[in-house]
Amino acid sequence: MIKENLNQIKEQIRKTCEKAGRDAGEITLVAVSKTKPLSLLKEAYDGGNREFGENKVQEIVDKYEHFSKDVHWHMIGHLQRNKVKYIIDKVCLIHSVDSFRLAEEINIQAKKKNLIADILLEINIAQELSKFGVSREDTLLLAEQISGLSQIRIKGLMTVAPFEENPENNRKFFRQIKELSVDIMKKNIDNVTMDVLSMGMTNDYLVAIEEGATLVRVGTGIFGERKYAMERN
Ligand SMILES: *Cc1c(COP(=O)(O)O)cnc(C)c1O
Repeated sequence: MIKENLNQIKEQIRKTCEKAGRDAGEITLVAVSKTKPLSLLKEAYDGGNREFGENKVQEIVDKYEHFSKDVHWHMIGHLQRNKVKYIIDKVCLIHSVDSFRLAEEINIQAKKKNLIADILLEINIAQELSKFGVSREDTLLLAEQISGLSQIRIKGLMTVAPFEENPENNRKFFRQIKELSVDIMKKNIDNVTMDVLSMGMTNDYLVAIEEGATLVRVGTGIFGERKYAMERN
């Protein structure tokens, strides 16, 4: 069933790219496996998926230890500074950097492990009080500050759009993220590229792709509903 879901989503992505005049090869599908057991991740793996998204440090650490090593783990949830050290050498991309203090800690831990950390800046595009992320207005300054850190490369932007039944309601936000990425790119900041736009979830990933997403984070559409209590985590 998970394999069929994956194939269906890939087919939707292909069709949407074709209509939008984009190359489907530009789009990375990240399977958001938070709260799901390894047996289901294994199904996705057997269905060809190698990109997994998780939002909790402990869950990444546990799953990393017990799962195939030839997969990429994406940290997509809020990250506390004191936990950076546990995942710095386990994830391929930290999507959720929204402060200089967090970036500084990532820089310190990356240096210890002698690696370069790839990150995205998380933008709170709809200015929701309940969400993490830097405001649109403060993004450029944050990018400039972080660009001075030797062990970090900013690869792009990430956003979690509001939950909407009708994905069309989020189109304007995705467009704003794309515009922001173009503005930042024009500044030609050292160690900063805008190749990755991580936006779009089960409900709105196709609209996000139409507006320029290069990475979509799909959980429910692949693994089914999460239990309510777990979802709040
Ligand atoms: C849970 C989660 C997703 C996936 O949400 P679905 O609606 O299940 O596709 C994507 N991004 C982030 C940051 C999440 O926490």
